[in-house]
Amino acid sequence: MPLGRTTLVLAGLAGLGVAAFLSVDELQAREGRPEPTAVAPSPEAEPGVEAAAMVAVEVEPRPELVAAAPAEPTPATDEDGSDDEDGSDDEVWVGPPELIEDCEQKLDDAGITWTASRLPVHETKGGITCGAPQVIRYQRGPGEISWGGKPQVTCGVGLALARLEAIVQEEAEAHFGRRVKRIKHMGTYNCREMANYPGWVSEHSYANAIDIKEFQLVGGTTISVLDHYTKSDEEPTTKKAKFLRRVARRLYDERVFSVVLTPSFDRAHRNHFHLDMARYLVDGI
Ligand SMILES: [Zn+2]
Repeated sequence: MPLGRTTLVLAGLAGLGVAAFLSVDELQAREGRPEPTAVAPSPEAEPGVEAAAMVAVEVEPRPELVAAAPAEPTPATDEDGSDDEDGSDDEVWVGPPELIEDCEQKLDDAGITWTASRLPVHETKGGITCGAPQVIRYQRGPGEISWGGKPQVTCGVGLALARLEAIVQEEAEAHFGRRVKRIKHMGTYNCREMANYPGWVSEHSYANAIDIKEFQLVGGTTISVLDHYTKSDEEPTTKKAKFLRRVARRLYDERVFSVVLTPSFDRAHRNHFHLDMARYLVDGI
């Protein structure tokens, strides 16, 4: 999907309500940012591999999640370096996610098996803020799906993965009469900026995103984003393509994730679904 047709919806996901609906053109006019022609190609870590710069301290057994206030989030600063004295664009779009109240309870209520983890909020030498205040290792969800490794994600993504599992199982049963037993992902935490979109930090920097590349059904059938996804300019015709389109569509339309990027979005996403919980919405299906 050409980005010019993509609508970014700025939504205050922290209870602020929908703040504005802007096209990318309007967005750039407002913020003076270059067009995000592509999200950075994803040099994703293999599951379980942490970025070298980050010391991730596992906390065993499961105490309360670390609920320290996040460091100053990356402000939506003016690219022209202006001081922004009128405060008209002080809205923070990109930064570590807001705390989720009673997160541990919500994870338990969602039927998730998890352990507490830590990715302390910090600023890199390059001035990028990374880490998040509530981080977990997602082990097992209500859909009884096996994930490669134990994804290290924010509480918000953990809760979203439980909803994802329910959708995936519903669609697998509808399309194949079988359930999904395993999902292969390509990583979650990765402290970096979007290479082609200066000033924007990937939600991977907060472990607030996950890249999914493959679904395996009970019985062995594999459905891969690279091999079976049909881009948005064509109707999917095979069962596998219909399954993938439907899952992506529901993940966005039901607001399981606020950003859903697929091979329709750009070449960097030709082999995976990028799913994140950013404060803005992007329909990249
Ligand atoms: Zn990604």
